Amino acid sequence: MDCIFCRIINGELPSKKIYESEHVLAFEDIQKAAPIHVLIVPKLHVESILELPEDRPELLVELHKAIKEVATLTGVAQEGFRLVSNKGKAAGQTVFHLHFHILGGRDLELTLA
Ligand code: C5P
Repeated sequence: MDCIFCRIINGELPSKKIYESEHVLAFEDIQKAAPIHVLIVPKLHVESILELPEDRPELLVELHKAIKEVATLTGVAQEGFRLVSNKGKAAGQTVFHLHFHILGGRDLELTLA
């Protein structure tokens, strides 16, 4: 499978790791759109939130924990941050492995699109 995030998870490609747990990896976005820009990905390859298996609730639990850990570790938990997951080309998804962006470290525009 030619998935760039799977290659990062497998260690075939380098990344600046921020946090890791059994089922989740968080690493700095290669093209930061804000001073803090971290991607949180499940190690299981699924294209989007819609394909995350319902019989694996531990994945959602770990993703939630990773969001909290990354927000705390990067210092944006108090000041605020944006959490984004693009689903599909129309929404701007370019890497088809589920990921959540955490963006912060500056005032973000008051827009959702
Ligand atoms: O939501 P979307 O799919 O557009 O986000 C993909 C993100 O993955 C981009 O922000 C891009 O900079 C990042 N990326 C990365 N490392 C790569 C390839 C893409 O951090 N090797």
